[in-house]
Order: sequence, then C-alpha cells, then structure tokens
Amino acid sequence: MAEPVLELDELTVKFHLKRGELKAVDGVSLKVRRGETFGLVGESGSGKSVTARTIMRLLPNPPAEIAGGRVVYEGRDIYDLDEREMRALRGREIAMVFQEPMSALNPVFTVATQIGDVLRTNLGMSKAEARERTVELLSMVGIPSPHSRIDSFVHEFSGGMRQRVMLAMALSCDPKFLIADEPTTALDVTIQATILELIGRMIEEKGMSLLFITHNLGVVAHACDTIGVMYASHLVELADKEEIFSNPQHPYTLGLLNSIPRLDQQQRYLTPITGTVCNMIDPPRGCKFHPRCAHAMDVCRQTVPEFREIAPGHFSACHLNDMR
Ligand code: SF4
Repeated sequence: MAEPVLELDELTVKFHLKRGELKAVDGVSLKVRRGETFGLVGESGSGKSVTARTIMRLLPNPPAEIAGGRVVYEGRDIYDLDEREMRALRGREIAMVFQEPMSALNPVFTVATQIGDVLRTNLGMSKAEARERTVELLSMVGIPSPHSRIDSFVHEFSGGMRQRVMLAMALSCDPKFLIADEPTTALDVTIQATILELIGRMIEEKGMSLLFITHNLGVVAHACDTIGVMYASHLVELADKEEIFSNPQHPYTLGLLNSIPRLDQQQRYLTPITGTVCNMIDPPRGCKFHPRCAHAMDVCRQTVPEFREIAPGHFSACHLNDMR
C-alpha cells in the first residue's frame, strides 16, 4: 500500500461566533495515499469545506481556531510552517479547485494575467514563458482557441469553461495533491460529466492524489477509490468505494445511498433522509444523527459513538456496531 501523502490526525476546528462556539470539524482522522482519490461526502454544513480550507490554511483566525489535532503533509505538520514555507507549499505542492470560479478568480484581470502571476511567482518564469505555458495549460484543459481566449476576462467564459480555467490555474505548478471542493456542483449534468472526466484524466496523467469534496455520492462513485462520509463535523464512515456501496454500515451513509438513483438496483421511489442537519452551535447530545435516525436507541441520545474499525479498512461510528 502506498504511503500517506496527507494525514489528518484528530483534527478539530472551532469558530468563535457572536452567537456562540461552533465546532465545524470534530476529531477527524483520515489518510490520503500517493495516487489515491479520496472522496469526502456529506450534506452542506457537515464540515467538508472547512476541512479542505484547514488543509490549505485558508481559514481566518479569528474567528476560526485549530482547537486540536494535526494536518501532516509529506511528514510535516503544515501548522508548524511559517508563511513563506506555506506559500511555497500552496500551488506547487497542494492546489485547490473551488466550487464557484467567479468568486475564486479575479474579475478585473485577464486569464493570462492571473495564471501568469501564479507561474511567475511560484516558478520564477519570465512574462513570455508564463504566457506560453498558460496557452499550453488552457489547451490541456480543453479551452478552444487558447491563443485568443488567454486575453479574455473570467465573465467572458461559460460556467464549464470557467471551471476549466480554474483547473488550469490549479494545475499550473504541477502540484502533487489536488483538493477539489464541489467543483461541479454549480454546473449542469452534461458539463459536470466533462469536468469530472477531465479531472480524472489529469490525476491519472500526473500521478496526483486527489481529495474530492462533494455532497453527491453518485459523483464519487465514478471519481474516487476511497470514501469518507461526514455528518455534523464528524467522520462517520470510511471505507473503499466498493465496500461503501455494497456494504454500508452507518445509517447516515445508507440514507445518502437511498436518496440517489442507482442503476444497479430497481428502485421505484427515492427515500430522502428526514429532518435537517442539527444546529451546530447547540448540537444534540450523543450521536448528532440521532434526531434523524430510524435506529436511534437510548445510548445514542447520551453517548457519542466511537469511530472504529469494524472490518479491515472499514471504519464506522455507530452504536449498532456494538451489537453486530
Ligand atoms: Fe443511529 Fe444510534 Fe448509530 Fe447514531 S449511533 S447512527 S443514532 S443507531
């Protein structure tokens, strides 16, 4: 088994807000190995994007606080690095694709300027070299007529093309690790499929590791080797993709699977998960999923279930595991 490139060890992130303290990530541990594609799945508000931004050290402190745990990249705790070392890590080692390119890219600069700046700052390229490389990158991600489109502004591209520009920028310095935070959520399904196929091809060609964040289990079914399921700041299940789809153990994972159309099963109706994600400033005691769980028992309302290995490589946090 390849060695881990990225390791989260009991990571805990809090936000100090006027209304109170919000624990957005609570004791999350996971490993992403070299060349692995890891899907982090869950509803909005589960803590997926906060996890991604914590890895990139993009959370403002205050209000955010790393209240515990470590983020280890290639053997180094990234929270021990100084700003100069962290800047060198971002882009060249770890890059990120955001959900909404319109807010991640700058509307007042052309694509040539924005990608060129990254290349000149991180790789020391001249203006001419950066321009030539930007054309190559735009062509690589499938932007037609890259020589002319390079001088366009972001608003002159369609949604799918903007996401390609974002991907070109993320790949510009040949990172070893890519974080894709809901990169296809704002796109229609046909463009979604093209972007997913493009990300998959880039990952394979460049031998990168990928942390893919999404609320859609259907998307990770195609894109990922390993799947971690998050609910209300906790990692509640983790296993390889086949195991998650064929033998899910956590009621929340089952709920997610029952709420998506499956081509491998005859379903007349989809079954949604009842209720909504709990108030994270005042979460319920015990298992945070218990108000929505059809299997909830007394112990679930009192005690947080332990996240433990229930079969080789398959982890789950549920009191039902103690009864199997
Ligand atoms: Fe449901 Fe209890 Fe398991 Fe939580 S611990 S998912 S409430 S059975």
